[in-house]
Amino acid sequence: MIETVFVESQIIDHPITERVLSCLPKADLLNINRYQELFNKRQQNFRLQKEKPALILAKKHDNFVLPAPSGFGMDSQKNFYFSHMYNCIYDCRYCFLQGMYSSANYLLFVNFEDFFRSISETIQNNAGSSLTFFSGYDCDSLAFEKITSFAQHTLNFFKEHPEVEFELRTKSVNIETLLNLEPISNCIVAFSLSPESVADVLDKKAPRVNKRIRAIKKLAKSGWLVGLRLDPLIFCKNWKGLYSELIEEVMADLEIRNLHSVSFGPLRYPKKMYNTIAALYPDEKLFAFPMQTTGQLVSYGPEIENEMATYIQDELKKYLGVDRIFQCLI
Ligand code: SF4
Repeated sequence: MIETVFVESQIIDHPITERVLSCLPKADLLNINRYQELFNKRQQNFRLQKEKPALILAKKHDNFVLPAPSGFGMDSQKNFYFSHMYNCIYDCRYCFLQGMYSSANYLLFVNFEDFFRSISETIQNNAGSSLTFFSGYDCDSLAFEKITSFAQHTLNFFKEHPEVEFELRTKSVNIETLLNLEPISNCIVAFSLSPESVADVLDKKAPRVNKRIRAIKKLAKSGWLVGLRLDPLIFCKNWKGLYSELIEEVMADLEIRNLHSVSFGPLRYPKKMYNTIAALYPDEKLFAFPMQTTGQLVSYGPEIENEMATYIQDELKKYLGVDRIFQCLI
């Protein structure tokens, strides 16, 4: 439950601000000048703040659309991402946001219209190339939908731009907004998944995997394109059996023609980020594993990564062609 909302004075009358505040009538409201006064100040404690994060409503001024890191996308020539929000209501142990921000407060940029203007410009500037835009890089795209209506606005925007693809990445099962809309042929709802027993331990506060799988099937059945993101792959006891079961469960009765793509990617961090996150959880098994450091990258190392990638790919090939299977390496 959000108890405190900080609002930049300049966007106090913005329609999204009004909507958000109307959804949180009991929260304390405090005016601020600029979000930087509060967010990501040094010497904040991510874990402590995560116990009771505040919500900050702000205006973003620049860098609305950024090139996605190489290895992030599927088969488009150019991939971009945009982040209307920093931080997430879930608390996955492996989440890189913990190493990126020292604040766990939720920062929501309410000026969606400026994101859409910038996306339109990016489309115009890249005419002739196939483009995919991703949301859900610095937050979960759907988890806050009831409060923000972000997905609804964004899907309406991309409906008018059938020449590009849009991927909404999520672990949320808040799919009512989508089910109430006609499926949009250039929009993909992509769910991050891990085996149930792994997610029960690591995907803290996120919906259980069986619920996510139910949401995926419901959406595919109603005509939405769905994506499966087995990312990050977690190396653990009996990982082969666990991933085979997961893939079998999700593929059973899935409207396979509406499965846009399946991607998988290893657990990897920049060294500094890994050290920051591991220090937050001295007792966490995930960070007790003897990871390998190669240059500035911390990972399970090529032997485990390759074995997992080959196995997962072979399992997926039992259900769909290689043209819909992608390995993401960021
Ligand atoms: S759902 Fe994604 S963004 Fe949210 S905590 Fe988990 S990994 Fe991080």
